[in-house]
Amino acid sequence: MQPLAPPLRLLLLGLLLSLTSTAWAQAVLVNALPAEHAGRYTQVLKESGTVLTVEQASSLFQQGQGRAGQTPILNFGIGSRPVWLRLQLHNPTDQPISVQVITGTSWVDDLQLTLMHDGKPQHQWQSGDAQSGAKDLVPGIGYVVPLHIPSGSSELYLRAQSPDPLVLPIEVLSESHFLARDREYKFVYGLIYGFLLSLIVYNSMLFIGLRERSYLYYSIYLGLFALLNFAYSGHGFAWVWSDNPLLQGHIILLCMLLFGCSGLLFTSSFLSLATHAPRALRVLQTLAALGAIGMAITLLLGDRISEALLAFGFTLLAAISMVVLGLTTLRHRQVAGHYYLTATLCGMLGTAISILTVWGALPFTGWNYGAIKVGIILQATLLALGLSLKVRQQQREKMLAERLAEHDPLTSLLNRRGFSQQAAALWSTSLRNQRPLTLVMLDLDHFKALNDQFGHDFGDQALQRVAQVLQATCRAGDLTTRWGGEEFLLLLPETSLAEAMALAERLRLAIQAMQLNAGGQRVDISCSFGVSERGQHSSLEQLINATDQRLYTAKQNGRNRVCGEPSAQQCSTSH
Ligand code: GH3
Ligand code: MG
Ligand code: MG
Repeated sequence: MQPLAPPLRLLLLGLLLSLTSTAWAQAVLVNALPAEHAGRYTQVLKESGTVLTVEQASSLFQQGQGRAGQTPILNFGIGSRPVWLRLQLHNPTDQPISVQVITGTSWVDDLQLTLMHDGKPQHQWQSGDAQSGAKDLVPGIGYVVPLHIPSGSSELYLRAQSPDPLVLPIEVLSESHFLARDREYKFVYGLIYGFLLSLIVYNSMLFIGLRERSYLYYSIYLGLFALLNFAYSGHGFAWVWSDNPLLQGHIILLCMLLFGCSGLLFTSSFLSLATHAPRALRVLQTLAALGAIGMAITLLLGDRISEALLAFGFTLLAAISMVVLGLTTLRHRQVAGHYYLTATLCGMLGTAISILTVWGALPFTGWNYGAIKVGIILQATLLALGLSLKVRQQQREKMLAERLAEHDPLTSLLNRRGFSQQAAALWSTSLRNQRPLTLVMLDLDHFKALNDQFGHDFGDQALQRVAQVLQATCRAGDLTTRWGGEEFLLLLPETSLAEAMALAERLRLAIQAMQLNAGGQRVDISCSFGVSERGQHSSLEQLINATDQRLYTAKQNGRNRVCGEPSAQQCSTSH
């Protein structure tokens, strides 16, 4: 006999392999249950139109019409035809073994299970969310059937039907493993709901306190996310509306639509789209309106498949729009955009992964399915952090603005406002403790002429240099102020008149000795000083007026001199 050509051998091998995979699937040993979901142990058959009985389905499987399950969790997507699964169980002990079989997710409409032993039905069970009662629905896990598996070989047949994503996380669990799983899920869901609830309260309080609408919209967004979770995990149907399968049939899809809409509403408000990007706002409004109208039409027509496709498509589109808008605002350099973008990326990625997983485009794993929860929790945390950073930035800006409002930009000395804020305290302290307080007022001599001769820039430079001399000479507790154009005021606590006169004289000499340069030419400047002590003056205004008088006297007496109380005779002479 001629040996077969290599391509033919490969073809035969492939055929043989595919035959074995359709005809055989490994049996689940009920005394040593596998750790993973049992999708790969099943054989799968789709009804072609007519509803099959379990006997008909069984004989089709016998004829090799089923194909082996390809993934641990089976997902047949939106609008699938009814599906039959066959799972072989083997109990090698001589006693029946109790197990819990997870069949479908909380939103599957109809689930029928038959346990066959020796060719006869041993146990029949039916549930799903198209019927009221939420029988055997364990929130967070799905529909769970308790079974006693007799010794020897048995088969499980499961028929599942749903226009929504048909997800069958089929799994056989021991009693203790199931209880541990239930405890773990209760704990995790408790954490998630608790976290969401506190974030909702936190954002509502921020809205009440700050009156900024985006916090209200974010609370609504989180509230709808919590409700969506409550609905699709099965908590709602199991605990609240178990007698209302009609509500159960639509609430998840409706929550998805509203969740998407509230996300868009929050985005528009947070990024102030009405002022920064009115066109983008109109696009979002149109998108939301189209989503709502489409949903209303599918509801009226009773078209569940279109309703599901619309809800999934809309939520995905809304998530993508939020990131695109975040990127756009980043381009426009809006501060809020940075936090928003990072946060939204987390939320969007999580939402997109979970939506695509349930839709059937990504492998159904625990992480992919739960990505939306991780994403939204990260998003909310980052937004809260972003808010605190924003508040800190605003505080810094406020402090800077306050500093600017109290200081003169040219010389960095206090301005009149800054002086008034601080002088009152020094005045009353000095009055209360009967301590000396003096005031020095100085004015540049013939400054107008200097400006006219050497230019305004030279004048500015002269003012800055004088300010530097004042700051370098005065003590930390003194108030050095630019009082007017070329007029300065020094309020000196704990300083007697004689000390202040001496200080003014030192300043006069220092200013006179200053090296100023205008286009290579040395220019000398001088100042006249008036000095007064608090003494009998009853107010700061009176003291300022008296000092102004002394300054006037100094100007009258020939400038470049210091003039103190009580009279012109106290004026020092210039050198
Ligand atoms: P007197 O000795 O009597 O004080 O004469 P003066 O020329 O110094 O006084 P006057 O009040 O007539 O002129 C003040 C000048 O100071 C007029 C104004 O242009 C100038 N000036 C005020 N503020 C500034 C400023 O910020 N920069 C510059 N370069 N000049 C200023
Ligand atoms: Mg002057
Ligand atoms: Mg003047």
